[in-house]
Amino acid sequence: MVNVGCHVSIQRGYLQAAKMAFQIGASSFQYFPKNPRNLTIKSFNLHEAEACARFCEEKGLLSMGHAPYPLNLAVEEDLSDIMLQAILNGLDITDACGSVGLVVHFGKYRGKDPLQGYKNIIYLLNKALRQWHGKACILLENQAGEGTRMGTTLEELVKIRNLSDYPDKIGFCLDTCHAFASGLWTGDNWNEVQQKGTELGYFDHLKAVHLNDSMYASGSRRDRHSCIGKGHIGEAPIKQLLRSSVVKGLPVVLETPSQGGSHQSEIAYVQSLLD
Ligand SMILES: [Zn+2]
Repeated sequence: MVNVGCHVSIQRGYLQAAKMAFQIGASSFQYFPKNPRNLTIKSFNLHEAEACARFCEEKGLLSMGHAPYPLNLAVEEDLSDIMLQAILNGLDITDACGSVGLVVHFGKYRGKDPLQGYKNIIYLLNKALRQWHGKACILLENQAGEGTRMGTTLEELVKIRNLSDYPDKIGFCLDTCHAFASGLWTGDNWNEVQQKGTELGYFDHLKAVHLNDSMYASGSRRDRHSCIGKGHIGEAPIKQLLRSSVVKGLPVVLETPSQGGSHQSEIAYVQSLLD
């Protein structure tokens, strides 16, 4: 079994976000710990966040935070301080909310030497995790390949984790739309993806799944999420992935366009694929 859920708003606080997820039949959820559009630091209500953690514990809900969009691990060292503070703030909040971790995009390097981009990512991860002693992990998310090829392969993700000084504080979040759009997953090759990921040690550290269908074909490198069963991936490959042993027990969270303001029926549909 997996824990199916969706992305929810924290407009009314972390506890309410968890309650809202529970109410619509989710057994997991994702939220933005703070405004996703900027890197400002949020001072949050610790008691409220801890109440969220208690509620989730009671109800068996799993959760994860998603880092703000401008967070980029691959920036040059002189720009990395603002990124560092944003990572630590995100980890603080997700930890207090009892979440598995903070989902962070792999990053976009704008310079000429791609190797330097990878070095920047490792530098920033080391700098952040040296100061981090909570339970929440960094969850590196695979990318669709839009604008940059970086972060689209399992090899890169595993390599970054292995080369960092704190691999135990780093896990992975597999986005199914991104895996499909990048060409890593074609819809027909899940067994190969599973075998390769297992050999590399990727699946040992997979902590979360973003379950999205794709509006564009495999290999298109376009990052546009579609509702489950309504995109180019389709129902059968999603069903195969959901029933795979490597995702067992994980939070599987929809980041699909919500129909009528709620993901309730889509969660029920995804759960029906598991029966
Ligand atoms: Zn995602």
